[in-house]
Amino acid sequence: MDNCIFCKIIKGEIPSFKVYEDELVYAFEDINPITEGHTLIIPKKHSQDLWEIEAESLTAVHLASKKIMDAIKKVLKPTGVVAMQLNGKSVGQAVFHYHLHLMPRYEDTPPLPVARWELTPGNMDKIRETTEKIKAALR
Ligand code: AMP
Ligand code: ZN
Repeated sequence: MDNCIFCKIIKGEIPSFKVYEDELVYAFEDINPITEGHTLIIPKKHSQDLWEIEAESLTAVHLASKKIMDAIKKVLKPTGVVAMQLNGKSVGQAVFHYHLHLMPRYEDTPPLPVARWELTPGNMDKIRETTEKIKAALR
């Protein structure tokens, strides 16, 4: 895609801190890292989000994430890693080329706000109703 910043990174038109590449995937360091080792993993074939991405690219991105997670664990020794992916402007997606964030956490870094929310029990009738709606749409 011509005006996509991540497509330009894949083509080498914009510089990046590449950590991994294979036939289907490219992975590089986020230049606004939330913690050390904040890595983005993207499919080489452009697709906007989880609604649009094809199974082959999706599988490749997530298999690469496992490799990179192992490498991050080995060299950076985080206490944990958040694997996060945003779909849509309303939830904060800023770059519209599918990307999986790997965000390591260390002893001295505060928990990511997105990984912490107050647990309030929902309305079980409403949850059951929603379950049925999603199940019906999956058929
Ligand atoms: P999102 O909000 O999930 O769309 O996140 C987009 C991410 O891309 C942000 O964390 C940015 O810091 C990151 N980003 C944007 N441009 C670049 C770039 N040229 N190189 C590396 N990371 C980038
Ligand atoms: Zn793109």
